[in-house]
Amino acid sequence: MIEDLTPSHSIVTRFAPSPTGLLHLGNYRTAIFAYLYARRHQGKFILRIEDTDRARSTKEYEDNIIESLAWLGLSYDERYRQSEHIEEHTKCLQKLIDEGKAYISEEAAKDGSGVVKSIVRFKNPNKKVVFKDEIRGVIETDTTDLGDFVIAKSITEPLFHLAVVVDDHNEGVTHVIRGEDHIPNTPRQILIAEALGFSPPSYAHLPLVLSEDRTKLSKRKGALPVTAYRDMGYLPEAILNFMAFIGWNPGGEREIYTLAELVELFDFEKIHKGGAIFNKEKLSWMNKEHMRLKTTEENLHNVKKHMSEYSDDILQKLLPTIIDRVSSYGELSGIKDSEFGFFIKRPLVDISKVIWKDDESYITINHLEAVYDILQNTNFDTIEGIKQAIMAYAEIHGKGSVLWPLRMSLSGQEKSVDPFTILYVLGREESCARISEVIKQFTT
Ligand code: GLU
Repeated sequence: MIEDLTPSHSIVTRFAPSPTGLLHLGNYRTAIFAYLYARRHQGKFILRIEDTDRARSTKEYEDNIIESLAWLGLSYDERYRQSEHIEEHTKCLQKLIDEGKAYISEEAAKDGSGVVKSIVRFKNPNKKVVFKDEIRGVIETDTTDLGDFVIAKSITEPLFHLAVVVDDHNEGVTHVIRGEDHIPNTPRQILIAEALGFSPPSYAHLPLVLSEDRTKLSKRKGALPVTAYRDMGYLPEAILNFMAFIGWNPGGEREIYTLAELVELFDFEKIHKGGAIFNKEKLSWMNKEHMRLKTTEENLHNVKKHMSEYSDDILQKLLPTIIDRVSSYGELSGIKDSEFGFFIKRPLVDISKVIWKDDESYITINHLEAVYDILQNTNFDTIEGIKQAIMAYAEIHGKGSVLWPLRMSLSGQEKSVDPFTILYVLGREESCARISEVIKQFTT
């Protein structure tokens, strides 16, 4: 099928979060899919903050949503706050009442206070509602069981279903993309739309995001707010890629895509129907892959934020080791003083540990002196060059016997990166100073 991708705003999607709590990463999958679909068709993507529940909505949660979308790079064309449209909602409520499609019902408040409230109930036509979900196909519901459901707490306090229907219509939303937990709401919303004379939008209900034990993903199950991933030093590109792949796959083996590539490929057909698992290991893997795609400058910039004590020269030389070692830049905070600490601070070397296996100490001293001499004439421009120079000696005299004392003298650690990388990062002067200090310890 040839798709018509002529630029137009004929497709309008929205992300409509309620700022009643800190949204976790799983919640943003809806935003990503709604964004991808709109951009794919050169349509419009709207952010609508659904804050009609005034008691539970907070500015802090709203700001976090805005900050998260900005960091992810999910730009929207329009932004609304549902509470700003109460007048429109009231008008529609009044219209429904005037036309006999809704009615005010005096009912005692549920809190047992004895207060009587004038709630608005929708007059259910009790019919079958059929809609074609873009992902799940035809869904048919007999709405009789729903009764005359409540659509407003009062004429000026619209509830969720009414507000969503009126806003989607007024904002020109053509495709409602949201989690499948909203499927039971859709027939109600279609009834309201029809009663108001609106033609309902298309619907695409996304499979649930599940935690690894296949229960619904939650903060307790390890999904953190997007801003927490930002602070832990994850890349927004990786988060987007990872989330887009929860329940969707463009097909084939490849899994690493940029946002622009995802926009090119996105469609509803390849969205899975079953729940999709949020796999933290996969996120780490994807983040690392995206780190590898960054330029040296970008990686240096990101690394520096977490290793500010390190000089530019050291970071530049250490960068490939760093990228190999961690899955997110934030992990560096945990190893910059321990595992990597010796790169910027001369270690205290325990000379009893410098000797290789059963070697006599004079052998170790001889090797360290020989390596010291070799290093005087070695070109330090590449790790490979250093390695060749040292290995020419080590292969004759025993690799362990030469390389172990060398690495211990430089790092003071039994486990570390290879000695050639350390020599390269430290440079000739510092490396030789460390070696001669160890020799001195042996001989005094
Ligand atoms: N505000 C609703 C929520 O946060 C979403 C409404 C919708 O997408 O239609 O679950």
